[in-house]
Amino acid sequence: LLEDEHLGPEQEGRVIASYGASVDVEDPAGGLHRCHLRQHLGTPVCGDHVAWQAGSRGNGVVVAIRPRRSALIREMPDGGERPIAANLDRLGVVIATRPTTPMGLIDRYLVAAEHLGIHPFLVLNKIDLLEPDALTELEESLAVYPRIGYELIPASTVTAHGLDALRAALGGHTSVLVGQSGVGKSSLINCLIPSVEAPTAALSEATGKGMHTTTTARLYHLPGDGSLIDSPGVREFALGHIPAAEVGPAFIEFRPFLGHCRFRDCAHRDEPGCALRGAVDSDAIDPRRLASYHRIVASLAG
Ligand code: GDP
Ligand code: ZN
Repeated sequence: LLEDEHLGPEQEGRVIASYGASVDVEDPAGGLHRCHLRQHLGTPVCGDHVAWQAGSRGNGVVVAIRPRRSALIREMPDGGERPIAANLDRLGVVIATRPTTPMGLIDRYLVAAEHLGIHPFLVLNKIDLLEPDALTELEESLAVYPRIGYELIPASTVTAHGLDALRAALGGHTSVLVGQSGVGKSSLINCLIPSVEAPTAALSEATGKGMHTTTTARLYHLPGDGSLIDSPGVREFALGHIPAAEVGPAFIEFRPFLGHCRFRDCAHRDEPGCALRGAVDSDAIDPRRLASYHRIVASLAG
């Protein structure tokens, strides 16, 4: 795009793919526009609402990033932070019957989502691998999650069990699926999105470009309404550094009890008059969740 090229009026759009130096912007009518980035713009990421101006050859330039209502953040080795997806409202934590995900790791995903203000839910994939009795036992061990308000969707990409429930959970929202390697995230996404390569092909015809461009992230429209953002970075999302004081409120069932301990600086271990320990004793808080809390706080201190 030449500096002096005539640009059309400012329009709104949404970033549906990012390649680093350029992005694909979708206009409200569904048209795709490969756009360069105006200098000093910052980094638009998938899901961003942006203002852009069309050039004369089907491409354009992004001129403003609209405020984000949420963002998935990745911590860089140098301690900096980089957004990897924006304007999300659902985060599906995929776990499986095999490999099983330790409860402490499930809780780290939930805490990360709560901290970012993104509503999480759980997908228990590969239920086809368990006999009914073993599945019931596993679901009972995970029952704490539905009890405290998180939807738990048993699913199988082999039998298609649970896929309609998953579609319903994603409907009308912008979501991501995260989880350990091997739990079936790619398989689930392939079930949800019939033709994942379509946007790239359409764009290649329009611009002659994009055929071999590696995308860092992409937003897929789901049949019906709702969209899913996916990328290797999204899938590897993990709990970043959060202040220890914000861990407690990210355990949503702790909220009614926080601030009610006898000591202001209660660590919720052996202190007399600890409201959280009291809640564990009266079965209002699952002891495994309090143990997760302590592990997370300890890991953040390091
Ligand atoms: P990802 O690393 O989370 O993206 O996991 P993949 O989607 O690559 O799946 C890992 C392995 O689990 C693959 O061999 C899949 O075929 C298998 N898999 C995925 N979903 C299911 C399922 O529902 N049932 C069974 N039995 N295997 C599955
Ligand atoms: Zn306490």
